[in-house]
Amino acid sequence: MDVAVRVTTPHRPLPRSLEPLADESFPGYLLRLAHRLDLSPARLATVTGLTLHEGVPVNRMLALEPAMAEEFGRMTRLSATEVTGLTLASLSPLYPPLDLAFSGRRRLIQGVFVKENWVFSHASRYCRQCLAGDGSVIQQEHGGAWSKLWRLPVVFACPLHGQLLRHACPTCGDPAHSSAGSGSMLPLVGNSTLHPTQCRNAVVAAGVRRACGHQLAQPELRTLPPSDEREDLLRLQSRLLGLLRSDGQEAVVCFGRETTPARYFVDLRILTCVIVASWPAGRDLTQTSACERLVDRHVRRLSTDTPVWRVRRQMSPMLASRTACRRMVMTGKLARTPRSWAGHSSRTAPMAASICWI
Ligand SMILES: [Zn+2]
Ligand SMILES: [Zn+2]
Repeated sequence: MDVAVRVTTPHRPLPRSLEPLADESFPGYLLRLAHRLDLSPARLATVTGLTLHEGVPVNRMLALEPAMAEEFGRMTRLSATEVTGLTLASLSPLYPPLDLAFSGRRRLIQGVFVKENWVFSHASRYCRQCLAGDGSVIQQEHGGAWSKLWRLPVVFACPLHGQLLRHACPTCGDPAHSSAGSGSMLPLVGNSTLHPTQCRNAVVAAGVRRACGHQLAQPELRTLPPSDEREDLLRLQSRLLGLLRSDGQEAVVCFGRETTPARYFVDLRILTCVIVASWPAGRDLTQTSACERLVDRHVRRLSTDTPVWRVRRQMSPMLASRTACRRMVMTGKLARTPRSWAGHSSRTAPMAASICWI
């Protein structure tokens, strides 16, 4: 049992709380509620039983132990369903990489976040307009939701606002909510002065460590000229989001066969790994030369990237070749087996699959 759940002091529930927003993530909710209560996220985590220490462990955003979830719900006046809905585990029935029982063995919450590369555990993509909120009073004060879906590599665009998601802060250049290596859910988690939509990354200026503070939310963005490629990507994203939502379609057709959304994402992952592992055998599957260049660049850099740069490139919707791979899969192009691939697929598939499941 986690030490943080051994909270026996009968704290009274918080004087004020917040209703979770649609698809809101655990760190996003902590930021908004802490801002409303004029507390730091670290202090809020302590009084709600999430931790006994200074930081907020990153694995809390995946799943909470039952006693911890109950205490958090009691303190914040949220129902058990609302607390579970904030965690990434709530997506696991549709997205198996988040399933603690994925691959036939019981995985530890911490282990999933250390080893699972189809979840962004140490940073988040974001939509600037979503963060600006919907204009309601509560969102004008505390910002819109940091979506838990932005933690998944398969979510790279916002169909509502017609934009690719951002991944890095324009001022400090680091991924938003970058906490790699710290074990913390958020950077500068003890800071109570930042707005929930400001960049919390630490920067050093003139020898002094401080928060970056860049405002990531922006209500209005310039309208982009029409682009067939962007429209294709937005259609693809809408379809993937439909599968990720619990009220999404129950069955999806993949290569002419009906399957479940969960099985679909497993297939997508395997195929992505096969494409990367066998590249350039699948070069002729790409629809555009730009798509081919993205995959090519990604594969070449896989062997040379440092861990930090690998995280940055995986976060980038523009650079992630996986987007291009997904596009090939979604448009059914992989239903055609390329001649050049025929001799590679049987050899590389098991290897690629093993890479995925590690
Ligand atoms: Zn948006
Ligand atoms: Zn920044």
